[in-house]
Amino acid sequence: MTRLYNFCAGPAALPTDVLTQAQSDLLNWQEKGLSVMEMSHRSPEFVGIAQKAEQDLRDLMAIPDNYKVLFMQGGASSQFTMIPMNLLRGKKSADYINTGQWSKKAIAEAKRFCDVNVVASTEGNGFTSAPSQEELNLNPEAAYVHYTPNETIGGVQFDYIPETNGIPLVADYSSAILSEEIDVSKFAMIYAGAQKNIGPAGLCIVIIREDLLGSGGLGDVLEGTPTMFSYKVMADNDSMYNTPPSYGWYLAGLVFTWLKAQGGVKAMAEVNQRKAKKLYDFIDTNPFYANPVAINNRSIMNVPFTLVSSDFDKTFLVQAEKSGLLNLAGHRSVGGMRASIYNAVGEEAVDALIAFMDKFAKENS
Ligand code: PMP
Repeated sequence: MTRLYNFCAGPAALPTDVLTQAQSDLLNWQEKGLSVMEMSHRSPEFVGIAQKAEQDLRDLMAIPDNYKVLFMQGGASSQFTMIPMNLLRGKKSADYINTGQWSKKAIAEAKRFCDVNVVASTEGNGFTSAPSQEELNLNPEAAYVHYTPNETIGGVQFDYIPETNGIPLVADYSSAILSEEIDVSKFAMIYAGAQKNIGPAGLCIVIIREDLLGSGGLGDVLEGTPTMFSYKVMADNDSMYNTPPSYGWYLAGLVFTWLKAQGGVKAMAEVNQRKAKKLYDFIDTNPFYANPVAINNRSIMNVPFTLVSSDFDKTFLVQAEKSGLLNLAGHRSVGGMRASIYNAVGEEAVDALIAFMDKFAKENS
């Protein structure tokens, strides 16, 4: 059977070349007589796989040497908890920018540990834009500033990196990591659940500046922080304090190798810009479809759109699936449609989607 076009927001499409490689490695990795899934994480074979994956990610993102790269578990959602536990460091409050459902979840979790100062919120306009730098009411006493550069559900993306005047900037890059070049040195910490642009679910990447790790002792992490929730412990143990998600780590490594073969993040970003522009241009010019997000804040990874009437939604989804276009339903909290066009979703998938949308509009107008 052929592989269909998958627009799922996550777990999302993986490059077919990566899956083919994993398939050929599955039973017998590099003639070692066993699967990566069956290897000790302390074996030289797995440590080699792990280190190569980290180095490739460092190369792809030009991660400076004073940052640790952690391969964690618990999804991006666990980071919502770990961030205040590790980064308050004696302070009582943190700044959060609220641009959508994922920001809100991060805020709700942080409120369990500290005073949360929402420095800007676009909830008033239904999360259809990102605030400008001038609108950020930053508190100079905040322990850190947290934001979501790309809101996966609303399809809202920042078109700038907030200037925080020395306060550590923490970014939930789950749905935009590796989609375009970013200057890592502008951030204190970047984190991303793997299941969009990195690999299978179950792995979460954390990139954190070393000076934020502290000693891991009292005063550095909140009292009562579990060992597994300390960045310092994870960093000191090369993310192998316990058994890491080894197969996900290996698959992430295959994705990084694939990305390098595509020309790296710069080349990928050009394709991503082209894909997104095509789709938004089509939506904007066809009266059957609409996207509510401010032009400058439209996500290049997640493209939500509505049909002229929600009465068409069900038929649209059924016919799309029959045409080999999967997972176009919007998030259950907002409805409508959403096409997630991550790195592994090729330009031909976007072309096929546009052709289908055009045909559907003609047939139903
Ligand atoms: N943040 C963002 C921006 C997300 O898109 C998601 C998942 N879609 C999460 C956090 C939560 O990730 P997880 O399910 O891995 O906890």
